[in-house]
Amino acid sequence: MTRGCLDTPVIKERGQHEVFCGLTSIIWLHRKMQDAFFLVVGSRTCAHLLQSAAGVMIFAEPRFGTAILEEKDLAGMADANAELDREVALLLQRRPDIRQLFLVGSCPSEVIKLDLARAAERLSEQFAPHVRVLNFSGSGIETTFTQGEDTCLASMVPALPASDAQQLLLVGALPDVVEDQARALLAQIGIETVHCLPAQRADATPSIGPNTKYALTQPFLGETHAALQRRGARWIEAPTPLGVEGTTLWLMAIADAFGISRAKVEAVIAAPRARAQAAVARVAETLQGKSAFFMPDSQMEPALARFLQRECGMDIVEIGTPYLHAELHRPELALLAAGPRLAEGQDVERQLDRVRAARPDITICGLGLANPLEAEGLTTKWAIELVFTPVHLFEQAADLAGLFARPIRRKQILAQGGPRMEAAE
Ligand code: SF4
Repeated sequence: MTRGCLDTPVIKERGQHEVFCGLTSIIWLHRKMQDAFFLVVGSRTCAHLLQSAAGVMIFAEPRFGTAILEEKDLAGMADANAELDREVALLLQRRPDIRQLFLVGSCPSEVIKLDLARAAERLSEQFAPHVRVLNFSGSGIETTFTQGEDTCLASMVPALPASDAQQLLLVGALPDVVEDQARALLAQIGIETVHCLPAQRADATPSIGPNTKYALTQPFLGETHAALQRRGARWIEAPTPLGVEGTTLWLMAIADAFGISRAKVEAVIAAPRARAQAAVARVAETLQGKSAFFMPDSQMEPALARFLQRECGMDIVEIGTPYLHAELHRPELALLAAGPRLAEGQDVERQLDRVRAARPDITICGLGLANPLEAEGLTTKWAIELVFTPVHLFEQAADLAGLFARPIRRKQILAQGGPRMEAAE
């Protein structure tokens, strides 16, 4: 095995950081878990963040909301707890479709003083067995935007029923269409029992035990990974299934873990892989030889950099990531050819200086940094789009490349004085 970037020294930064908080994960989690409700216990700022991140939702009963803790609640936590219990009772009475309720912590100091774990236990006892109440933190002090998913899934693991069944657990909130593709590929390979965490509905909640092997679909699930190991489940080490190579290696690792031959996997994936390779190659024409700089946002950066470097021919200048998990990022760093700088954490001004010095063809960053960088003539891609868009597995590999190619192409068209309509594709 080559050592790739495994020996690259890591720049550790602990300065000011500019990222969305974990509440943002609620946007994709609530779409995935169709009978869950996410009750943020927070401030008006939290409510505004959720509203704007979710966009306009006019077509259905919402499945997330904010219980706003006003300053007056500071007078007594007993009052705040009683208020919370009352809100939850009203909500569950009005919405019998809710089967899982998450109390989501945030950063205001009055929320930090509330013991939401105790509140979740108390309410779970009250509303069991119809509703399970859990809690996790989406606080911006503790989490970046993808870590909300991690803390949510980790909160579910201790409550999963025990099982000795030989089974595969896919971990991470994939869009339904992608989950269906994964299940279809795994069934053709010969893996019979596949469950997902999170499940679409509470009654499909997976069980877990020492014969459960699990594959992560996202690289930012460190806490969930630790919680699953505490339950005796075994991790299948593999790169994230992003791009043709990532998907191939991920499926191969799962097949190995279940004693299925690589020849069988090859036979199943030959056609979809060839289609994906051809589709990625078309999009990669725009990306070949271009440079990319990752600001730390999602912990997906090493996996995305590996895809852009190895499948799209890009030159990766720097891979910034909020947290470099020694185990979960190892498969990606082993694949990445040495060359990119690695940075963990953030000191935003110093990192911006490095972006300005490198002037990369594309900078992947948060919304707050994208506009100022664009004003300086740099091309950007919002990191958050990479979790809002289906990007996993063979079928989406070219779409993933397209997310990076589009802003670069738009810049080229504008530089050539091309028509504005076309530039706004
Ligand atoms: S949890 Fe904290 S960072 Fe997130 S919206 Fe609320 S106040 Fe802001």
